Amino acid sequence: MLILVTNDDGVYSPGLRALADAMATIGDAVIVAPDRNRSAVGHSLTLEHPLRAQEIEPGIFAVDGTPTDCVNLGIHGLMMQRPDLVVSGINSGSNMGDDITYSGTVSAALEASLMGIPAIAVSLDARTFSESDLLVTTRFIVSLARLVIKKGLPTDTFLNVNVPSGGCHGVEITRQGKRRYGQAVIVNEDPRGRKYYWIGGSSVGFEDIPGTDCCAVARGNISVTPLY
Ligand code: MN
Repeated sequence: MLILVTNDDGVYSPGLRALADAMATIGDAVIVAPDRNRSAVGHSLTLEHPLRAQEIEPGIFAVDGTPTDCVNLGIHGLMMQRPDLVVSGINSGSNMGDDITYSGTVSAALEASLMGIPAIAVSLDARTFSESDLLVTTRFIVSLARLVIKKGLPTDTFLNVNVPSGGCHGVEITRQGKRRYGQAVIVNEDPRGRKYYWIGGSSVGFEDIPGTDCCAVARGNISVTPLY
């Protein structure tokens, strides 16, 4: 069993290593991940300049591209054979509702799915990870990955998993919900007296639609959203 592990938080993120360690209990895990944090790059591909991949440890490749580049390069260039499964994460912060359109984590899984390879994206609803949150997440992903490898997924469908922090009650199969974001743009001045702007308003909540990813995680459940 060959598993490609990637993310958008970068090759040095602890969530990626925890996910790769968990996948190594199922099969051979190869990491192909961005060499730095590329969160919120969506499904972008690098077409205007070459990509470089550095094998920083055996089976761990750092690529100066996006998560989608990593999946492409991993499958078509770096791995000896086609992986049986692609997993992306564990992302620092949830990817639910509208987030999915920005998420590099989810886009990496989408890319694998477009290539006909079963894929799972996994995010933890916390900025920094506690040991217990990581344990809950990796345990769940190992059992889900085993199930996906055994049973497969419907054509063009992949799974987007979000795990609440601070313990969970159960698992819900959900659909994509709707987030509400703050509209604020932060304006400040740099040391040379020039204005700069910081976008990416924080989430101020979500629409309370039963059966959605946002609702499930708010209720303390792991959300599994099939995306097509
Ligand atoms: Mn990220």
